[in-house]
Formats: sequence, C-alpha cells, structure tokens
Amino acid sequence: MNYNEKSYALGSKRSIIREIFEYSKVRAKEIGADKVYDFSLGNPSVEPPQMVTDTIIELLKNNNPTVLHGYTSAQGDAEVRKAIADNICKRFNVKVGADDIYMTCGAAASLSICLKAVVNDGDECIVFAPFFTEYRVFVENAGGRLVISKPKENTFQIDLKDLEEKLNKNTKALIMNSPNNPSGVVYTKETISAVCELLKKKEEEYGHPIYLIADEPYRELVYADVEVPYLMNYYKNTLVCYSFSKSLSLPGERIGYIAVNPEMQDSRTIYLAVCGAGRSLGYVCAPSLFQRVAGKCLDAKVNLEAYEKNRNLLYNSLCEYGFTCVKPDGAFYLFVKSPTGDATSFYEKAKEHEILIVPCDDFGVEGYVRIAYCVDYNRIKNSLAGFKALAKEYNL
Ligand code: PLP
Repeated sequence: MNYNEKSYALGSKRSIIREIFEYSKVRAKEIGADKVYDFSLGNPSVEPPQMVTDTIIELLKNNNPTVLHGYTSAQGDAEVRKAIADNICKRFNVKVGADDIYMTCGAAASLSICLKAVVNDGDECIVFAPFFTEYRVFVENAGGRLVISKPKENTFQIDLKDLEEKLNKNTKALIMNSPNNPSGVVYTKETISAVCELLKKKEEEYGHPIYLIADEPYRELVYADVEVPYLMNYYKNTLVCYSFSKSLSLPGERIGYIAVNPEMQDSRTIYLAVCGAGRSLGYVCAPSLFQRVAGKCLDAKVNLEAYEKNRNLLYNSLCEYGFTCVKPDGAFYLFVKSPTGDATSFYEKAKEHEILIVPCDDFGVEGYVRIAYCVDYNRIKNSLAGFKALAKEYNL
C-alpha cells in the first residue's frame, strides 16, 4: 500500500458538519447568502474582546520580531505558562504551577496529546453521549477503543448506572465535555461528584489510575451564572484541555493549553508523557504570538449577551412552534429532537427551507439535530418563518 489507509479514510470522508458547511457556501452562491440559514459550524460570530486586539497591536509594536515570532520552549513560553497557572490557582483554588502547563494548538491538539500520553494499545476510553465526533478520531489514533456511555433521557446528564456498566479493568480514561457540544448541557456538581466517587472506587478495585480528561473549550460560555465545576477539585487524576477558540473567539489562531493536576498520582511522569506525546505528534511550540496574547488576556470576556440573546430567540421560538429542545445552559448549540425520531430526514426537510442543521447520530444519540446559534442574530430571526413552516409540515 502506497499510503496509510486509515489516514486516507479520514481525509477522504469529511465530517457531516464540514459537508454541510461546504454545501452552504455553494448554495449561498446560487441563491444569495442572506437566503441560506447555515447553522452547521461552531465558528464564533462574536468578535474577540477589544483587549485581544489591543494586545496584538501592542505586542507587534513593542517587541523584537525574531523573539515574538520565534520558537518558544516546546511546552510553551515560561512566562505565559506562569500567567496561566497563576490564573487557574486564583480562579479555582488549586495548586497548578507553570511546569504543569503545556501550550497547544487548541483543544483538538490538547485532547490528542492527553490521550496519546496515557492510552496504551487496546485501552478503553469512555465518552459521554452526546459527544464531539472527533473524539473517536483522537482516541483511535492513540491506539485506544472508544466506549460510549449513554446519557439520562431528556436531561442529557450523565447516567451513572450506564457509566458503571461501561467501566472495566481496561478503562484508562474518560473525556468529559461540559458545557457540552452538542447538547449545551452543563453537568451539575452532583453529577460530577457522583462520577468522581465512582471513578475513585473503580481505581481502587482495578489497582490502576483512570484519567479524567476535561474538554473545556466552552467553560466561559455559560448563561445566568450557571456554575461549571473545576474537575481538579473533585478528582486528582485530572487533565484539563482548555482552548481560547471560543472563550476569546480565536478559533483560527489555534491556541489552548493542557493543565496536568500536580496532585495526581505520578504527576511529573504524566507531564513528561504529555511533553513526549506533543513531541511525537509534532505539537510543540504552539503559535508564539498567540501564546503571548492568551497569557495577557486571561480575564478578557467575549460578549456573552449576544449568544444568550440568540439562544433565547431560537429556543423560545422553536418550543412555541412545537419542537422539543434541550434548554442549553452553556456553549452555543441547541439540541432538537426530530419530530419523527429520524435525524437525517429532519435535516433533509429543514434543508428544503434553506435551513442547515446537523443530524447528530454520529454524536452518539440518535434522532436529534444540532443547531449552532453562534451566528448573526438576524440569521436566526430570518430563519424563523422556515422553522414555523417546518413545524406545520410535521403537524406540530
Ligand atoms: N472539543 C469540543 C467539544 C469542541 O466543540 C471543539 C470545537 O468545536 C473542540 C474540542 C476543538 O476546539 P479547538 O478549536 O480548540 O481545537
């Protein structure tokens, strides 16, 4: 074979989200962009905070370009890592230091690195449905086997009973994503405490660590002061994968970090395995300019009100039309039940009204679609007539 078959398969079959996004561009050329209601991609519509722009300008003006654009240490610039560590300690009352932080190209790289750092061939990694579809790619690339834990019906919180059934001596890691893509659900303190107690019990029973990988690109995007518990405070063997893609609206700049809990068993070994995994995957020395920007803008905030306004309009309108939706406490996705129970036909019917939504069967829950509402408010407003007509077609 002249090429790697698995890589070819991944490259030649785009994700359904990307397919729909590409279709939206073609369709926009045919009928006009204002007539296509694309809700496919989680690309933030809200501008980065002014502080981010100001910091970029200041850094560009006042720094030696060969330093600013040069390689940093493989694990990231020491000052930036210290600023991040101090910020985490201040916000969450933990004891993370600069040498527990590894700078990465966003959460995707963070997850790939963490999995490669802890998973050995044949280990199992549990994900909670509904889950970000790329987890399968990252877990399998690390040599692991993806195991799906089903959620509680309607609330989409973690189902402890199902989780207990999925845990076994081959379980090496779990990925927990809250606020969740695609449901918008934030796992409650009670859910998290119960999961962590169960994991501690299982670690003892199996005699080896089980790592909890927190996937946190949406941590800052929550509405009405909903609390997002910091997993290190609940469970020692935690690695946090953070990203500035959504929190600072910088998805294209590819910047984030991993925080390894210094309180975990063999934390130095795990941190070095993170460094080694980063090295083997080629994820060293994350984008230098944006490391510095992130390090200086840790308390900056995007305009959350815009997302909340979008959420309220979309959620309230769709409920009024008769659709069943999960009310999102965070992130910028609405999870909607197909009136027939079939996600693909719902997606196709919506497409007839130029409404582009994502069927979520690959996210591990059948019969739901995802609507990314990180778009201009007017796009939502103008799409509502189509949603209403769609509801009528289903006799809702
Ligand atoms: N994890 C989840 C749940 C996501 O939704 C995304 C992106 O949408 C990522 C990870 C990857 O984020 P990043 O852009 O930081 O790589």
